[in-house]
Amino acid sequence: MRLAVIGAGMAGILSAIKLDEAGLTDFTVYEKADRLGGTWRENTYPGLACDVPSHLYSYSFALTPEWSHRFSPGPEIYGYFEKVAKDHDVVRYMRFGDEVTECTYDDGRWRLRTASGHTDVVDVVIAATGVLHHPRYPDITGMDTFAGAMFHSSRWDHSVSIEGARVGIIGTGSTAVQIVSAITTDVAHLTLFQRTAQWVMPQENPAYTDEEQASFRSHPEHLATLHTNLAEAFGIFANAVVDSHSPEIKMIEDACRANLEDNVRDPELREALRPTYRAACKRLIISPNFYDAIQLPNAELVTERIERIEPGGVRTADGRLHELDVLVLATGFKADAFMRPMRVAGRSGLTLEQAWAPRPEAYLSISIPDFPNFFMLNGPNGPVGNFSLIEVAELQFDYILQLIDQIRSGACREVSATRDATDALEAERTEAAPNTVWVTGCRSWYLDDRGIPAVWPWSFERFRTVMRQPELASFELR
Ligand code: NAP
Repeated sequence: MRLAVIGAGMAGILSAIKLDEAGLTDFTVYEKADRLGGTWRENTYPGLACDVPSHLYSYSFALTPEWSHRFSPGPEIYGYFEKVAKDHDVVRYMRFGDEVTECTYDDGRWRLRTASGHTDVVDVVIAATGVLHHPRYPDITGMDTFAGAMFHSSRWDHSVSIEGARVGIIGTGSTAVQIVSAITTDVAHLTLFQRTAQWVMPQENPAYTDEEQASFRSHPEHLATLHTNLAEAFGIFANAVVDSHSPEIKMIEDACRANLEDNVRDPELREALRPTYRAACKRLIISPNFYDAIQLPNAELVTERIERIEPGGVRTADGRLHELDVLVLATGFKADAFMRPMRVAGRSGLTLEQAWAPRPEAYLSISIPDFPNFFMLNGPNGPVGNFSLIEVAELQFDYILQLIDQIRSGACREVSATRDATDALEAERTEAAPNTVWVTGCRSWYLDDRGIPAVWPWSFERFRTVMRQPELASFELR
């Protein structure tokens, strides 16, 4: 059996390790960039970190005593993935600098074509292409006239010095908050353009002491316990967001409100920073020091609507020009793109664009009807945003491997979800959506074009249970 994995980020590295372990060694991991790392390669902005604790945001089979902080910085996370891939000797499977542009199902096999013209024919495709990958640029008049440096947060231009510069940031998501917290002390002036205020959950980020790290090294079993305990604690949050009446969500709301009221001194600024929707409706911001940073004398919160961008800076609706040397677009990602713009055509030439009109869907976020032997990790409508995506990908991979085993054992040649199972799950998912906190009155990247969260709306235990073993009746095995 020959396989192709698309993407060498967290889920692609995982796939390579697990395929190799399973003895499925005839595969290539296609990566369009020149090195592995996915989101941790692409995002290099100052303050980059992960708001899932590091000992949880680790592969279960590659726990490490070396994490420096509870929430370790981005470069350290990148280094972790690089090391794990090297330690498991899977870099040799990776083909860098070549983007898969086409995947066509023909005569029982997938035909791949890359940007360089390279072709491959495989039995199984695993798309590990990530979720928050394609930058969403705002559509603001005059963007191309700005005379300073302007870039998206995930395309940080390190050749531009921000030291002593007048820096503007558009957006108030997790990314913007991390950047503001990291750079305000270095820049001459920081302007944060806020369209919507955010609730901020206070969370300390202590460093692990040498003694703690030494103890992890000499007792690796403690790492496993820590991983399990953190998963349990995180599970409380994951379960709270899918039940907007839960006492846990109330606790989160109270903690965010107290954070705002106790830590923002100026009443006018406090009200400008106070959201008008419930906490965790948008992806909850976790930060120990955002309020400190935005209250520094050289920081300014601008809530006036952006009118246009001019050579000298950003002009707001009140007529004021906010003069800037650098403008950072922390405006988020196209969360519904997944492996697109790759052209994927399944049975009878059905394209992904057709199958995903009007919106992406997949059975358990893994398999699409009429796209046999094509599997996704962290595909549409999965538990994104409320858990560690590493555990999600590990559970999904084990499930996919069981489907691949159906082919390996000769039970069938083709596996894809049935239309009925996909429709039934979608109906159930849509019905569960009103219970979640994501529909309590805010705009966010979780919501699809109908305002339904494109997310797993149930508990994480339920996800774990469902992922244990495929229900073969939900699949068409040919
Ligand atoms: P985001 O949460 O989608 O936030 C985008 C921000 O840009 C929002 O504040 C949005 O305002 C604003 N915006 C977009 N277009 C605009 C326009 N035309 N004019 C003015 N404002 C505009 O993006 P993100 O901060 O990059 O985060 C995306 C996700 O990545 C997060 O939710 C999280 O899941 C993940 N992430 C995680 C971490 C972590 O620590 N684990 C760190 C960074 C990112 P509105 O709110 O009004 O729409």
